[in-house]
Amino acid sequence: MTRHPKLFEPGLIGTLKLKNRIVMPPISTNLAGKDGTVTDELIFHYAERARGGVGLITVENVCVDYPLSRHGAAQPRIDDDAFIPGLRRLADAVHEAGALIAVELTHPGMNAELRFTEGHTPVAPSAVPRSKDGLLPRALSREEVMKVVGKYVEAARRAKTAGFDAVELQACHGLLINQFLSPLTNKRQDEYGGSRENRLRFLLEILDGIRLYLGEFPVMVRLVAEDVLEGGLTLEDGQWFARRLEEAGADAIHPDFGLGGKEKRLEPMPYPQGWRVYLAEGIKKAISIPVIAVGVIREPPLAEEILEAGKADFVALGRALIADPEWPSKALAGEEKSIRKCIGCNECVVARHVEDAPLRCTLNPAVGQGRDFARIDRAEVRKRVLVIGGGPAGMEAAQVAARRGHQVTLYEKENRLGGALNIASIPPGKEKLNWVTEYYSHELPRLGVELHLGEMVDAEMVRAWRPDAVIVATGSEPAIPDIPGVARPNVIVAQTLLAQKMQFADKRIAIIGGGMLGLETAEYLAAQGNAVTVLKRYTTVSRLIEPLYRDYLLRKLKEEGVEFVTEVEVEEITDGGVVVLDRQGARKLIPADWVVMARGARASDRLAREIENFHPVVIGDAVEPRKIIDAIHEGFVVAKAI
Ligand code: SF4
Repeated sequence: MTRHPKLFEPGLIGTLKLKNRIVMPPISTNLAGKDGTVTDELIFHYAERARGGVGLITVENVCVDYPLSRHGAAQPRIDDDAFIPGLRRLADAVHEAGALIAVELTHPGMNAELRFTEGHTPVAPSAVPRSKDGLLPRALSREEVMKVVGKYVEAARRAKTAGFDAVELQACHGLLINQFLSPLTNKRQDEYGGSRENRLRFLLEILDGIRLYLGEFPVMVRLVAEDVLEGGLTLEDGQWFARRLEEAGADAIHPDFGLGGKEKRLEPMPYPQGWRVYLAEGIKKAISIPVIAVGVIREPPLAEEILEAGKADFVALGRALIADPEWPSKALAGEEKSIRKCIGCNECVVARHVEDAPLRCTLNPAVGQGRDFARIDRAEVRKRVLVIGGGPAGMEAAQVAARRGHQVTLYEKENRLGGALNIASIPPGKEKLNWVTEYYSHELPRLGVELHLGEMVDAEMVRAWRPDAVIVATGSEPAIPDIPGVARPNVIVAQTLLAQKMQFADKRIAIIGGGMLGLETAEYLAAQGNAVTVLKRYTTVSRLIEPLYRDYLLRKLKEEGVEFVTEVEVEEITDGGVVVLDRQGARKLIPADWVVMARGARASDRLAREIENFHPVVIGDAVEPRKIIDAIHEGFVVAKAI
């Protein structure tokens, strides 16, 4: 008997019978071939998720009209019959692995990137400059609109021929169908513009066309529930469209945001779980066909609660299934503590949207790497493996080594696992980082890893232990620059301040350092009601901070009244504050009751040097302080090689 009966109840979408209420929404992977063909990596990616127990997988962002609807560096295509054999291999693999499969038919319209459209000007319902960069798209003629309708219908036919179980029409996120629906982007004077009914016509013609040519083939609509841009569609518009789509024979509505607001659909870490579910709830009130809820659903009890409360009929798990494809099967088996819960760090978003690179995940090193890399084989010889350091690198290395059958012992000098995560999780909105430590704290003992917490390791101990392999993951320590006055009693190191959760009230606090550590410490202190000033060498904000989170954080700091003094060098710390020198050579005192040193960290590698004779493998911040993804991925790779 499962703890989540609603979640694992079979459900219907049109004629399609799902084994449970879990749907994977489309998430682009950049794992198709550059020519749009299906690759082994793409098949493996989706088959892994199917094996993990999801009911229905919706394949990402598929191009219906090349090159004008190209919307990604390595995006699957369905605009020609030549792509059917590859798509059939994908559908067969997902079916064999136990899930149903749909395809998301996508046209970005005005939001197509010029680097993908082979220089063609993006098309749109109307020549309205797009909000992100002012580029003016070309308005589709009436005849062209009808041709694009035909492209969707043809794409649906190919999906059915290839063995897909359904299609999902992409009609949100500011893409082409959304552009037709919204009065902000649709200024047409013909039958495709003006009234709501006219703005819906393009989408209805696609739906009607699919019905006419493919009969009962299930069609879901990823519908804009409301635009984020001011003056755009409201939830009432979304409800109205949903009602009309139900009348026209749509089989399910999967509501989400429309024009604008990328941050609201690729939420950075601070957004709470399930905050976007109100969109599904609102749409569900208007219709009786199934509604799919999406947005930061990370824990089975929340998914169950959404279904139980009747807010939606299905839940969509996107990043949750990237981080852990076995989320559904673990939830079904009551092994929730073994779920690697997505923390919303958006490393996956940076890969796909910023770098045009294959999908990757901080917590799951196997993502985007193909079958061989993902496989964790049993070791031929069982070795005694000593892992020194219980931060993310050490915990992942210990986990993988144990899975391979090695005898693993992990030493951590603090009384708990987590390392740098224990500090990084303190600023506001960073609590999800605790999930990482909770996961390993549950998994390592279960896998037989011997944990020694609160114990320092020295060279003598390593010598006495005589391990077959030593992994040094001793992390980092605060970098303290040699600034006059740095040892004064009014100076605190940011990491210490956070680790001890220090509280201040109504103080003037100057923070030296405007990287992620400095900015997050500023938010932590400002939230306590202090007057915070951040002193920075440069005006720009670190590119190492994920862009959506960076914008979010800077907005919060502004709201909290945090001041920035940029392009200054710190000369001295005094009892009264910080003396800085600006680019013009002018000196001034930034008055402060407390000074916080937030100049990052440096590798804690002393032990590694002392035990060189044992040929230790050094990983994570002990090599060089970097991101969590670097630590976890190094732990994975190193342990696979022992
Ligand atoms: Fe979640 Fe981060 Fe993995 Fe993306 S990279 S799926 S946000 S844990």
